[in-house]
Amino acid sequence: LSHHNISTVTRKKNCKVSGSHVSYLENEVRSSLKLQRTLVQTLPDGSLQATPKELLYEFCTKLKPSKLGIMQVGWGGNNGSTVTAGIVANREGICWETCKGMEEPNLFGSLSQHGTLRLGITSDGTDVFVPFKSLLPLVEPKDIVLGGWDISSYNLAEAMDRAQILEPDLKRKLRPLLESMKPLPGIFDEEFIAKNQLPRADNVIQTKNKAQQVEIIRQDIRKFKQQHMLDFVVVIWTANSERYSVELSGVNDTAENLLNAISSNHKEVSPSTLYAVASILEGCPYVNGSPQNTLVPGCIQLAEENQVFIVGDDFKSGQTKMKSVLVDYLVGSGMKVESMVTYNHLGNNDMFQLTDGEMWKPKSAAKSRVIEDIVGSNGTLYKEDEMPDHVVVVRYVSSYGDSKSDVSEYVTRTFMNCPYRTVMYNNCLDSALCAPLIIDLAIFIELFHRVSYRTSDMKAFAPMHPVLSALSFYMKIPRTPVGEPHVNALQRQRACIENLFRALVGLNGEDNLFLETKFP
Ligand code: NAD
Repeated sequence: LSHHNISTVTRKKNCKVSGSHVSYLENEVRSSLKLQRTLVQTLPDGSLQATPKELLYEFCTKLKPSKLGIMQVGWGGNNGSTVTAGIVANREGICWETCKGMEEPNLFGSLSQHGTLRLGITSDGTDVFVPFKSLLPLVEPKDIVLGGWDISSYNLAEAMDRAQILEPDLKRKLRPLLESMKPLPGIFDEEFIAKNQLPRADNVIQTKNKAQQVEIIRQDIRKFKQQHMLDFVVVIWTANSERYSVELSGVNDTAENLLNAISSNHKEVSPSTLYAVASILEGCPYVNGSPQNTLVPGCIQLAEENQVFIVGDDFKSGQTKMKSVLVDYLVGSGMKVESMVTYNHLGNNDMFQLTDGEMWKPKSAAKSRVIEDIVGSNGTLYKEDEMPDHVVVVRYVSSYGDSKSDVSEYVTRTFMNCPYRTVMYNNCLDSALCAPLIIDLAIFIELFHRVSYRTSDMKAFAPMHPVLSALSFYMKIPRTPVGEPHVNALQRQRACIENLFRALVGLNGEDNLFLETKFP
């Protein structure tokens, strides 16, 4: 083998896997694969025993992507308007002038559009990488139909101006295409949002009756689907962070109690839970992009009963994502992170909203929890219940707008307790980090909706579990089905998506062993 092997990314559109365990039929691809998991038991003497167990899985993935619609709650916000502007600019091929010259639209930051995975190796030892979408057909972003709700009446062109994110020439060209997009009236409950948002709430559903509010949202979804002849709609919460709703037995603990609480207009059912319930009852997956407890136990049960996907909580886009990479590197290399002190400052509307202490609580909790599994994975460095000293400071600085800066200092102990200090500074527009995540979530959810599976003890094929933990990569506090641990480490989360894609076309998970050369 050459010593100068180059990794190549194929730009060819499709690739197919051959073998007796994979079959490409007219409308679906079927694969069967032995997947291994390792069961660990504690023996009477306290030692651990690990037993690998093989399970045979069959997968069936429909090949034709649905006609997809995304309904964003908070469509007129910074994220909502940036997602919309980005999709329209890409669809129409709109270029724009800046002081440095012409810029072209793209979807950088999106795994579904620009992520690649290693397919395998050629006979001359060249690694071959392919885009995710060359293994299985995905919805094209240009084909996505956008809609949604906002408590502010600004149309999407006005919302894009208010967000102060895109360049003037681009906004001028997008304006005629976005002006006709107008958010539907939203559910407004001043109990769950900061008082400083009251001035923008001029587009609200006129009834305070929660059952009627759910009914209106359900009708909106149905109309949107019919009007655009959509097969599949994903509802994504990208409205402001709410305060926590109080979890009460008899109110939001079971699906039945939650539906009854909505009928009796119980004050602890939040607007976001009402949107989630309406989506689930319409069979539409729901993503909770903020940290509040929208997905109360009753809501999760409702999703399970109706077999509708839910994904939560809080988009993992900026500093938190960095943290889940950096701490993974440090702890993963056998070093002890002693303290992490992180500062964020930004000046967008959601940050303004978070200056209210009650709204800040869920965000603070979400930002603080992202390293638990990484630290917990290393009992040689940390005693039980020991955690790094972790401080999260976030400040509102109006003049920064959507531009988010974060500065952080990590103090780690390495060999012979020597301190290893890391200082990091990041700056990016908050919405530029988040928009590709919103697009990916909808595109991957649409794919997983086309997947069914069967193990040797199942007669019929069944859909994936409604709590869609496969997309934990995108969330700060990933929701998982009962019995599945939370994974925050970013590379493990990415490997989950990658290996799932591979399994669906009959390829084993990536092991990075290069057995063929190490053991020739
Ligand atoms: P934003 O304030 O610009 O937009 C939110 C929009 O939601 C506003 O237009 C507001 O009018 C609307 N809204 C509020 N309550 C509503 C309701 N009940 N129904 C309908 N519309 C409602 O905020 P943003 O910067 O676009 O962020 C959106 C959300 O995404 C926030 O909750 C934020 O915490 C979360 N988030 C963002 C990022 C990121 O941008 N990088 C990362 C993680 C989480």
